[in-house]
Amino acid sequence: MRIWVNGGLRDADDARLSVLDHGLTVGDGIFETVRTSEGRPFALTRHLDRLTRSARGLGLPEPDHDEVRHAVAAVVDANPVALGRLRITYTGGLSPLGSDRGDHGTSLVVALDGVSRRPDSTAVITVPWTRNERGALAGLKTTSYAENVVALARARERGASEALFPNTVGRLCEGTGSNVFVVLDGRIHTPPVASGCLAGITRALAVEWTGAEETDLPMDVLAEADEVFLTSTLRDIQAVHRVDDRELTPETGPVTAKAMRIFAERAGDDLDP
Ligand code: PLP
Repeated sequence: MRIWVNGGLRDADDARLSVLDHGLTVGDGIFETVRTSEGRPFALTRHLDRLTRSARGLGLPEPDHDEVRHAVAAVVDANPVALGRLRITYTGGLSPLGSDRGDHGTSLVVALDGVSRRPDSTAVITVPWTRNERGALAGLKTTSYAENVVALARARERGASEALFPNTVGRLCEGTGSNVFVVLDGRIHTPPVASGCLAGITRALAVEWTGAEETDLPMDVLAEADEVFLTSTLRDIQAVHRVDDRELTPETGPVTAKAMRIFAERAGDDLDP
């Protein structure tokens, strides 16, 4: 694997950042995961815009989009894969120990690996921990993902592939790496960004293309919803066939199946922006 690190391509074994990089020592970094199909990044402009929004939110210098595009093109060229997970990581750079940022610029790392298509449906759990919709990091895609790692491990222990969080007032928010949608009486709903969820790129496309409504939803909605589905860059739309102990039948409900078809048709175009 060839990885872009601060200005050039390196072999994976030789791709190095300082051990004092602020992204490592205090999680002061942001990232994007972009899907590539046959070397074409999907919705790259939207991802770069979100990277910039995350940088602003964290007070990092704004990333240079031309530089990131150049790095992305180089990495895609160097790592031919049919379906790829491209990861752009941008951090506070080398800094002395401590939580203040140094003045050593930023670090940019771009890597790509091959992935297989996700199954059409999956099981999820709910977790008692909360997303903080009023926190400084709300809605930012930062590298401070340890809470998601813990929640995902809990999901795996229970035979599920995703964990759904409430926010601090007990409203449905999002998954560790996905947005959540529910179907009630034939209508599709998803929590608003004010719930504290990430403004997912797939979420925005699903809302636009299916007419889903942004609705403040209680966690209990998961016990009543006719259908539940997830959206994310690597899932597109993925049906949910189990929430905790509740089985949903059929595994992919009719409204979700239609949303999947619409998404596949529209996203088939080389979407950018
Ligand atoms: N929510 C979180 C916390 C995420 O990390 C992600 C993506 O990784 C999403 C939602 C889905 O966003 P997107 O559709 O842009 O991949």
